Amino acid sequence: VAGSTAARRLIVGSSAARPTIGVLALQGDFREHIAVLGQLDIDSMPVKRADQLGDIDGLIIPGGESSVIDKLCRLFGLAEPLKSAIRSGLPVYGTCAGLIMLADTIADAIEGQQSLGGFDLVVRRNAFGSQVDSFETELEVPVLGEPPVRAVFIRAPVVESVGPKAQILASLGDGRVVAVEQDNLLGTSFHPELTGETRLHDYFLAKVRAA
Ligand code: GLN
Repeated sequence: VAGSTAARRLIVGSSAARPTIGVLALQGDFREHIAVLGQLDIDSMPVKRADQLGDIDGLIIPGGESSVIDKLCRLFGLAEPLKSAIRSGLPVYGTCAGLIMLADTIADAIEGQQSLGGFDLVVRRNAFGSQVDSFETELEVPVLGEPPVRAVFIRAPVVESVGPKAQILASLGDGRVVAVEQDNLLGTSFHPELTGETRLHDYFLAKVRAA
């Protein structure tokens, strides 16, 4: 049955065989994500308008400044369409500010800052303090196997608490949670798109193909 379903997908819709990934291109390092997708031979498109959401099979929300991405999302009429796309199961991967955008709760949002939500968790922005607000480390991500991920954290958030729906994919040595998954959603505090690491994008693409 599984085989025939897969075959049917190949015949019926080309999107499962050759998905198009949108990268939210309002602010932040969306170009780097587009470059990684190109390296993986995946079709991608920068997303700036709500009417583009119908053309994509998955979406990446890049790193940047979450309060700015939030403002631009609302200004350009993307916030509500994105929220309903997330609720309807669109696979979305958020890195850093992107993860903040996907959190149900932001612990220390600036005044008026909103998230799109989806992830059953609380995220804290700029959680690593000013002295070490950027650092790199080798991070064990069990679902990706060996070797560990070279993870770069830039004024990064941490996942402060996780509700029952979200799953932890990776934590730092001190226990702070920095990678999470929940159904159609994937989130990392760090930026694989900056270190030549493609396994998180591959992991996300498997989610897109399964959706
Ligand atoms: N500190 C940023 C924020 O609050 C996130 C930083 C990043 O995306 N590298 O959105």
